[in-house]
Amino acid sequence: MPDYYEILGVSRDANQDEIKRAFRKLARETHPDNNPADDEAEHRFREVAEAYEVLSDPTRRSSYDRGGAFDPSDLFSSFGGIDEVLSRFFGGFSFGGAQQGPVQGDDIGVSTTITLEEAASGIDRQITFRAKVRCSRCGGSGSAAGVDLVICDRCAGQGSLRVTRQTLLGTTMAIAPCDRCAGRGKIIVEPCLECRGTGSIADEVSVSVSIPPGVDDGARLRLAGRGQAGEPGGRSGDLYVQIGVRADDRFSRHGADLVHRLTLGLSEVTLGTEVAVPTVDGEDTPIDIPAGTQPGTVFKLSRKGMPRLHRRGRGDLLVEVVVVVPTSLDAAAEDALRAYGAATGESPARPKRSRRKH
Ligand SMILES: [Zn+2]
Ligand SMILES: [Zn+2]
Repeated sequence: MPDYYEILGVSRDANQDEIKRAFRKLARETHPDNNPADDEAEHRFREVAEAYEVLSDPTRRSSYDRGGAFDPSDLFSSFGGIDEVLSRFFGGFSFGGAQQGPVQGDDIGVSTTITLEEAASGIDRQITFRAKVRCSRCGGSGSAAGVDLVICDRCAGQGSLRVTRQTLLGTTMAIAPCDRCAGRGKIIVEPCLECRGTGSIADEVSVSVSIPPGVDDGARLRLAGRGQAGEPGGRSGDLYVQIGVRADDRFSRHGADLVHRLTLGLSEVTLGTEVAVPTVDGEDTPIDIPAGTQPGTVFKLSRKGMPRLHRRGRGDLLVEVVVVVPTSLDAAAEDALRAYGAATGESPARPKRSRRKH
């Protein structure tokens, strides 16, 4: 928890007047309009605004004084960004008004599920969804063919206006998007018939998504500019693809390593055997199980696991031996096991009559 008193430069017993005065002074100094493109000032301004939000509210302040025993997310949920902070203190106009041109398109979220093999090899997936796309008739300008856009006379094509506002800090100068052209600087005289001047139409979109080898369940890929089309002149949103990797009963995944549980019988682990274990590449690999292998033994097949995402190399395939103890035996197997027990001096329970029924 930051020291809000220190941020505002006031003592712990400062009264509301002192807090307000300190805030006004600091807010002026760090106001983004006075420090264009200065990230440090923007950060400071946010801090100062946060400090003021807490200390100017008696309930929050006393809670903060008691050791910050409040939920910061609750407190700062309204501080979405510098624009929000500014609009709270400066009455609806925000820093960066000049850049606030046409509305940008929304992001789109889609999801797709792949198998573990596909996650290992990487795969190109065709994903189809409905979205607003740039109108092909007008190229997204929103203007009818052959009819030029005209420069907005209200803002002289700037897209923004300087306005003075009475705010908490007194009279401030702010930049606001032009209300006539909605920040575009240009006006559509005759709208495109296809999109009615919006510059976009709803359509089915098919995007090929390249899913990289080694991708994990729950990963999210971002395809910049493949979301909803924006207003004429505005950027398109982004496309987010949520990747689901289907569980594979042959393997459990631990980062880049895979674990395969290999079930073997008593005679196999005791006498040794050779078996083929599956790999995520689809090819079985033979492994040699030596005589006397204990349950829980792990054999490591180097670099037979998953590829490491965006890096070279792969994880290992760990083969864990599970020994199956039979729960029922036919007569021949039981006789053989009893003979084994007799030979090794073990003393199993006597046969039950019911076992001999078949
Ligand atoms: Zn159009
Ligand atoms: Zn304008």
